[in-house]
Amino acid sequence: MNRGFFIPQKHLLYMGAFQVEFKANKEADKDSGWYFLNHQWKSRADRVYYNYKGLKEEMDAAEDKRKAFSDYVDRFYEKNNTTVEECAEKFQKAWDAVNDPIFEALQEVMEIRTKPFTAKCYMHTHGSSSPRYLDTRRMLTYYNQPVENVMSVVTHELIHFIYFEKWKEIFPEHERITYDSPYLQWCLSEVLVFSIERDERISKIVPTKDTGYGEWQRIIRFENGLQKNIFHHYFSLYEKNLAEKTSFADFLKFCWQDVQQFKDELKAK
Ligand SMILES: [Zn+2]
Repeated sequence: MNRGFFIPQKHLLYMGAFQVEFKANKEADKDSGWYFLNHQWKSRADRVYYNYKGLKEEMDAAEDKRKAFSDYVDRFYEKNNTTVEECAEKFQKAWDAVNDPIFEALQEVMEIRTKPFTAKCYMHTHGSSSPRYLDTRRMLTYYNQPVENVMSVVTHELIHFIYFEKWKEIFPEHERITYDSPYLQWCLSEVLVFSIERDERISKIVPTKDTGYGEWQRIIRFENGLQKNIFHHYFSLYEKNLAEKTSFADFLKFCWQDVQQFKDELKAK
């Protein structure tokens, strides 16, 4: 071994930089648009048709629906490519100003040092939902929206990326599939991300715009004479945890027990 170049593994983990790259990516846009056009929830497809005027008629008339959709998006980009790219640049600039402090804060709050990574944030133009992909650390966001919303969405997804690194350490026996819908682990991550993004150390850098899933706001408990929905239930626990200086790991363990009571209401697996 060449001792002169030996770097302990522990330190290797700290090298490199955390980044988010904002880019136009027509193919990723098409793939997610097509996915939502065929989604089980009709409202997802309706959003695509609403944003792409005339698409419905073109697809109805076409034999090869996928090709008709692809051709439509190609024409959309011929007209709007510059705008899409300009939006990506605008988001990039705004993000770069908060990048280092926010990654630092995320790790501090979740009490974990993770290996630096570059997350990719592609623009979508179909206006339906904004998907994220944990394993490749990719996400898509709508190009035509205020910068503050994009900052909030990206922070939300980054919390998920780092949160599941922490989760993996604490619950190595939980399978990867449980990190996504409709598993209880995923449900818990959503309600806890709602709390984490409101942690002052994070919200003072990127204020959150997230209001939590509408469907879950009807999940109510009465606590100390107060009616709290599931998001506020966990936010109270989160604040209590901060006040008592419990470790984030112990907090997650406690929440995993606690969330079992909501399993049916969350329609979770
Ligand atoms: Zn989420």
